Amino acid sequence: MCGFTTITVHSNEKGQVNIEELKKELTKDIAAIMLTIPNTLGIFEEQILEITKLCHDNGSLVYMDGANMNALVGIAKPGDMGVDVLHLNLHKTFSTPHGCGGPGSGPVGVKGFLKDYLPLPEMEKTDKGYKLDYKNKKSIGKVRAFYGNFGVLVKAYSYIKSIGADGLRQVAENAVLNANYIKEKLKRYYKLPYDRLCKHEFVLSDEGMPNGVTTTDIAKRLLDYGFHPPTIYFPLIVHGAIMIEPNETESLETLNEFADTMIKIREEAEKQPDLVKNAPSTTPVKRLDAVKAAREPNLRYK
Ligand SMILES: *Cc1c(COP(=O)(O)O)cnc(C)c1O
Repeated sequence: MCGFTTITVHSNEKGQVNIEELKKELTKDIAAIMLTIPNTLGIFEEQILEITKLCHDNGSLVYMDGANMNALVGIAKPGDMGVDVLHLNLHKTFSTPHGCGGPGSGPVGVKGFLKDYLPLPEMEKTDKGYKLDYKNKKSIGKVRAFYGNFGVLVKAYSYIKSIGADGLRQVAENAVLNANYIKEKLKRYYKLPYDRLCKHEFVLSDEGMPNGVTTTDIAKRLLDYGFHPPTIYFPLIVHGAIMIEPNETESLETLNEFADTMIKIREEAEKQPDLVKNAPSTTPVKRLDAVKAAREPNLRYK
């Protein structure tokens, strides 16, 4: 961290960066801002050009977390928004395996003026083929095994080549359409704290659920209906967050079935809350101690 620390800039009531707060924090000591576009609420940062200009005028760089590129591929260029550095989580957008929290892989892209600071070696094309170049003096040197997770990179590249630019655009369009479709279906049954056009995901809350039914109960009940529950309790700014990110490959049938199941669980919460509170009832194991499992993992098979 080179002696730097992080400062949090909060979001405003629209779920976007609070620009006034950002302006106050943007002192000469700020090296860079990191932000996710669209953000974790699934909302596009409408003031992104103003944000990046403020940062650049201050001499600060803009780093974009590319985890949500599924909403933007083929449509919007982070470089045009003023982003200087961007990583792509390949497993989020380019169809590669995540590795169960293990070996994900992702390239980091930078604007031309930062090229000299990239790690070594650089790949150079010559008349005779490619060669590794170690000349760059400004680089911090080698930071990881040069080839990285090569297989994952090849898979992402093949995926991009096979669907092409039009295909990528369609990915983003369908992901956004699917998320808005589910959002509109569910917002009468669940609290939707930021009720506006979303990108590839949106976040519901368990606030106001009848009979004290919580997000955990809803997630466990989804297992009974054969759905892998979505990310829950994140982002933290939403009470009992349920993050729904249907992505582009789900069929209309699956989207409808998921929405109908969520509506059914809402009705159960009202009329038969014990069904939801005691879920899951169809799985081989019930509610596990997730904290203990994380703190004291037992990885033996037998
Ligand atoms: C998924 C996600 C991450 C974490 O990425 P992994 O590569 O899956 O660990 C970081 N930031 C945001 C906004 C994400 O959605």
